[in-house]
Amino acid sequence: MEFSIAVLPGDGIGPEVISEAVKVLKVIGTRFGHEFNLQYGLIGGSAIDETGSALPDESANLCSKSDGILYGAVGGPKWDGPDIPVRPEDGILTVRKTLDLFANIRPVKGYRSIADSSPIKPELLENVDMLILRELTGGLYFSKPKKRWETSRGRRGVDTLRYSEEEIERIVRVGFELASRRKKLLTSVDKANVLESSRLWREVATEISDDYPDVELEHIYVDNLSVQIIRNPSHYDVIVAENTFGDIISDEAAVLAGSLGMLPSASLSGYPPDIDTNNMSSNLYEPIHGSAPDIAGQGIANPIGTILSMAMMLRLSFGLEDEASNVEISVEQVLSEGYRTSDISPNNSNVVNTQKMGDLIAMRI
Ligand code: NAD
Repeated sequence: MEFSIAVLPGDGIGPEVISEAVKVLKVIGTRFGHEFNLQYGLIGGSAIDETGSALPDESANLCSKSDGILYGAVGGPKWDGPDIPVRPEDGILTVRKTLDLFANIRPVKGYRSIADSSPIKPELLENVDMLILRELTGGLYFSKPKKRWETSRGRRGVDTLRYSEEEIERIVRVGFELASRRKKLLTSVDKANVLESSRLWREVATEISDDYPDVELEHIYVDNLSVQIIRNPSHYDVIVAENTFGDIISDEAAVLAGSLGMLPSASLSGYPPDIDTNNMSSNLYEPIHGSAPDIAGQGIANPIGTILSMAMMLRLSFGLEDEASNVEISVEQVLSEGYRTSDISPNNSNVVNTQKMGDLIAMRI
């Protein structure tokens, strides 16, 4: 089969981890007889430096006409600061909004072979297998007003947390669909004791649950979840949360998997995704981490989150289940053979660099 893929490496460690995902993807193409047509585009700080825009038109066009988008990360100190006119993050936020990629799925697994890289007790990591579903195109990240201004009593800033019934309904339905194919438990996260948008969220989620009688729905306040997800992580199956809560919880959950560098994600415009190859929508696949400027250029970044994101693309956008499983099994094999990048090697043993980790996984396909 033939697929066109937009590749947006971005900034910092983005290009380093994307190269390894592409390396593994090419081996999948050869072994399974698929043609992956890769077209590279600029995004983020590197795009600002070259074009003045965080998402040049060529990159935007590339994204909308591709069968899938593989994205690294953007940002860095060079483009930080309150007075910067264009921010690197504007590029990825525009892609998400334009393509309506409202459903961000972040699988979190406790890998037995690297349990020692997590500060959590190994017995708590047994059977950890959850999906965190983050709403990606609403809430504090996008709602207006969003601005800063001067007053006689100093500077003020505002972000708005707004959700419509329709936005809540579509993400919660994705949560029920995912849970109905798994352990049939959906945990809905909110702060309904304080926030009006959360009270609406809880109300809509409860109403929709009538359509999914086989799935148990539980509600939890975000502050309590941030404790329970560490105390009793194996309880959770699918967790659905608004944009900001989902962002923070999934970074916290990365501790269960040993490192931020381990976690993949898929950003979809609906679930189940449309895998009719004549009408494929451009979904986006990215590791959950950022551009990690503190380690960029050193060749030590963990590429596994990005490689697993590419596997999610094979499964969800292209319907290539065997190929996706092959990548995931290869990752598990390399980890159980003892190979580590430095972020998942607390005592610095068996450490390989980014490229070598990519080579090892590619060799096991
Ligand atoms: P970060 O995720 O980049 O890094 C947090 C910590 O995790 C750092 O210590 C980093 O070294 C480590 N880390 C992250 N990925 C790793 C990997 N693959 N291997 C090994 N270690 C890894 O978050 P941050 O430091 O808060 O943000 C840095 C920049 O990234 C900022 O400019 C931020 O805006 C941007 N960012 C971008 C995205 C995105 O593009 N989707 C997401 C989050 C942050």
